[in-house]
Amino acid sequence: MQNFSKCPNCGGEEYFNPETGMLVCERCGGTFPVNEPSTQPTKREYTPTFQPNNVESNQYECATCGAKIVVGSNGEVHRCASCGNRTVKKSDTTLTSTPDGIIPFCITKSRAAELFRNWVSTRKFAPSDLKQMAKLEKLSGLYVPVWNFNFDITWRYSAIGVKKYTDDDGYSEYRDCPVDKVKDASFSNVLRAGSSKVSWRLVEDIGNYDFSKVRPYSTDYLLGFAGLDTDIDVHSVYDKITSDIISDNERVAKNRLEGEYFEVNNFNCRTRFRNVIFNYTYVPVWANHYTYKGKRYHCYINGQTGKTGGSAPKSFWKIGGLTLGILGTLAAIVGLVFWLI
Ligand SMILES: [Zn+2]
Ligand SMILES: [Zn+2]
Repeated sequence: MQNFSKCPNCGGEEYFNPETGMLVCERCGGTFPVNEPSTQPTKREYTPTFQPNNVESNQYECATCGAKIVVGSNGEVHRCASCGNRTVKKSDTTLTSTPDGIIPFCITKSRAAELFRNWVSTRKFAPSDLKQMAKLEKLSGLYVPVWNFNFDITWRYSAIGVKKYTDDDGYSEYRDCPVDKVKDASFSNVLRAGSSKVSWRLVEDIGNYDFSKVRPYSTDYLLGFAGLDTDIDVHSVYDKITSDIISDNERVAKNRLEGEYFEVNNFNCRTRFRNVIFNYTYVPVWANHYTYKGKRYHCYINGQTGKTGGSAPKSFWKIGGLTLGILGTLAAIVGLVFWLI
């Protein structure tokens, strides 16, 4: 992947250096600050009519997975950072949703390669030759879009709980007890996938990004990297988050009441959402898609913290060996027990 802008000193190509957080020129080594817009990362109030901002961008499209990949002004992409295939071509569409903010890469490519090798060597059942192959990794620095929500809720539930009292003679009496409970809670950094082209499970695995480090979005951060455009509508994300919380709260309230009372009548539960703010943020991921014996595996590395996760092939012989070992141990124990009795 190439994604360069020109150096003002010598015309050489610049890229973003995760170690220094500056732009560096490949030819003369000159360093330059990232051109950031003066506004701080926006946190917008959520409205059901919100439409994302689109801007003209240099965009590529992958024929295999359909990912739309955004690079800086002079950038080129040869490999899809989302699926790993060499099936990208310049896109006819040039409109991209602009992120509100970006968490820049802190982990360099060489550090990411080292982390990948360490990760492979700690896979329990990975075939031995995978560790050799790990040196040939193809790492792509990808900014993954996420929707980030912050909100407060007021959760109120009411019911008539029936209490059962039994006296010493065995007579039971039932008493109605009105219940009305109100709880307030705050949620921050509730993250959801902004793109269907990444494994969200893997992003969550390597997660915990420090959102206090979000910078105002600038395409300078993309120099040497690529960004994935969003294809998940913010309103469907909001609807899913709220309906999940509403049904969770209902379930918890019901369980509590049913645990406390003999019978529960007139149950009512409402969750109100307040101060809903959100933003659309790019988070950094080193993605490595590799093939082992014809099958695709994925490894993601958190570009801010280095936390690594993914899937790896399992060696038939190693699992088989362990199973035989366990069976052998079991046989020995059974033998010992028989010998003892
Ligand atoms: Zn230069
Ligand atoms: Zn692709």
